[in-house]
Amino acid sequence: MVDSIPSIWPHSALPFFISLLAGNRSIALLQQDLIAEAAGHRIPIPHYTNWLSEFPILLKLHCIEVVPFLSSSYISLHDTAIHPIFSSLLWDRTGVQEFIDPSHDAMRPAIALATKWITSDLFLGWWIRVLYGTFETDKESGKLYLAASPKEHDFPQAKADLEKAFAQLAENLRYYWKPEDENTAATSRNPWMALWGLDNQRWDAEADAHINEFAPCINLPTIFLYHLLSPRGARQASTCSNLRLQFHIAKTLVHELAHAFHMFVHRDKCEPYIFLEDWIPEAGFSWEQFVFGCDVTAFPFKLEGIGAVCAMEFEHMHAFPGICVPLAMRWVEKWFLNETWNSAPDIEFCNPITAEKLLKRYQGLIYADRFLPSANLWSRVLYQNQKPVGIQSLAIPGAPPPMGMRFNAMANLGMIPHRWNIQEWFDQVREKDIEAAVASGFDRDSFVKGRSKVYQAQCYDNDGIGPKC
Ligand SMILES: [Zn+2]
Repeated sequence: MVDSIPSIWPHSALPFFISLLAGNRSIALLQQDLIAEAAGHRIPIPHYTNWLSEFPILLKLHCIEVVPFLSSSYISLHDTAIHPIFSSLLWDRTGVQEFIDPSHDAMRPAIALATKWITSDLFLGWWIRVLYGTFETDKESGKLYLAASPKEHDFPQAKADLEKAFAQLAENLRYYWKPEDENTAATSRNPWMALWGLDNQRWDAEADAHINEFAPCINLPTIFLYHLLSPRGARQASTCSNLRLQFHIAKTLVHELAHAFHMFVHRDKCEPYIFLEDWIPEAGFSWEQFVFGCDVTAFPFKLEGIGAVCAMEFEHMHAFPGICVPLAMRWVEKWFLNETWNSAPDIEFCNPITAEKLLKRYQGLIYADRFLPSANLWSRVLYQNQKPVGIQSLAIPGAPPPMGMRFNAMANLGMIPHRWNIQEWFDQVREKDIEAAVASGFDRDSFVKGRSKVYQAQCYDNDGIGPKC
């Protein structure tokens, strides 16, 4: 039956898409690992200490493993209810036929969590606002947003309407694995637009010709596929490594579904601020703000493995330099526990602490991007109890090539002074670091405060200079 599912790709695009898959590193490594496994070779799981120098500190503070290990029942093991909008039948099989069913099984915990996020009463307010909301401009701020409809008050009816809308969207929606070794995902209005995203020069005319077709497709990157299926992937590394992977995939899936849902309800209209208090008019981040109050992303997210899940104010999300808080593994784990969902999860748990909320003399962990003049490079530095304790090299576009790290680089960073709270301190050192880096030859345009250029260009309000809806 599954062989009869038509490909989302137009016939003329099949060789193009298959050649992209053939050249993709995540797919090549996955195939290589699976062949080695089938041949009975011992596959070494990469050890964190080889690629995450601050691993022992993160481990000690329980950001990597849950200590003591608590094995309560996880939702994925007992909850068989998976929303049809995540059905494996919606995944495109072109060039990846052998991976579709195994990967769908492997990400069952993520799909179970994503199902909770789109069906639990506590979180339905976001979807109901998109479903019923009407476009209005706020007089004070000039922001275009979705104003509440009186229909929101009839919750049982709203819930039923929402379920109907999800069912209709599921009839049009498709997913595909995008050949991509970075942690990215996107939603396109139709496969022609998705092709345009893969090679905008080659598919420009076709994408333009099909601009009005509504057949949304969500892509996840093949690096997720690698981590789900390779014997060396994050799913195999440990229970907690798998939970971080599953959390990350769940969040990414629902973020993209938020875009597809807005597109389904409001068609040609651009994404407004769903709620007036949103950081940017971007449906996926609006949903994240609704559920988490911030951005939560596993960092780093590489082929070698997946680091701690970190909480970041939206303001720092696409900025550089930025600051974030590595979260205890317990927080990630809690989303997957049956007991969390037996009653509604409380908001205090849903919203993790971010740097902006930290007071003076913070004893825990933060990551801050710092410039290390002695090594002439930028690094994400881990602080514990106000002291720098770990360092990670981080290349940014436009930077001169690093000259190599010197051992004293961290010693020069100093402590976070007790008189400042974390955000005040970061505001200060960010300015100093940027000036020092520019003086050392870094391109000033590489640094972003607040909204990234990508989002400035995409958001309709564009800080006042962009296209209007
Ligand atoms: Zn998005």
